[in-house]
Amino acid sequence: MKEAYKHQLLWSAQNRKVIKRLFLGWRKKAPKDLDDRFHSGHERAFAEVDCLACANCCRTTSPIFKERDIVRIAKHLGVKVSDFSNRYLRRDEDGDWILQSSPCSFLDLETNACSIYDVRPQACREFPHTDRKNMREILGITEQNAHLCPAVSKTVQAILDEVTD
Ligand code: SF4
Ligand code: SF4
Repeated sequence: MKEAYKHQLLWSAQNRKVIKRLFLGWRKKAPKDLDDRFHSGHERAFAEVDCLACANCCRTTSPIFKERDIVRIAKHLGVKVSDFSNRYLRRDEDGDWILQSSPCSFLDLETNACSIYDVRPQACREFPHTDRKNMREILGITEQNAHLCPAVSKTVQAILDEVTD
């Protein structure tokens, strides 16, 4: 991962308690423009952060594979759905399909490119979710992602800067 992104994640680590406190408060009572704050932070963060210079999500966590993702990817690879699941996936404690191991088997570790990009799971398409509606519902996962994804960290930092200005 690019040094600047490691540095950004260090910011999250150093501000862990502040982020936690802010998000806890918003879970009880969120500002009306919470989505707008996240969405503009998301746009600005991804104008600067290049996922191909990062890939921390693909290296360290697993997306959830929905049945339709599995069928689509297995078809793309020309393998049976059951063979695909047996080879790459396992059930997590909630019964969802996730990767057997990290980094993701479909990540090119040299270039950070996804070898199944066009048919990747929906969860990969939507990660890190900071542009979705009703951000209040996913503040818990967003807090976790601020320690994993430099773009989320940047978004949260921008929001915090506005709050404390
Ligand atoms: S989504 Fe976040 S963690 Fe994943 S590659 Fe992009 S910047 Fe990195
Ligand atoms: S499928 Fe592609 S985008 Fe999703 S985790 Fe694996 S390498 Fe990353």
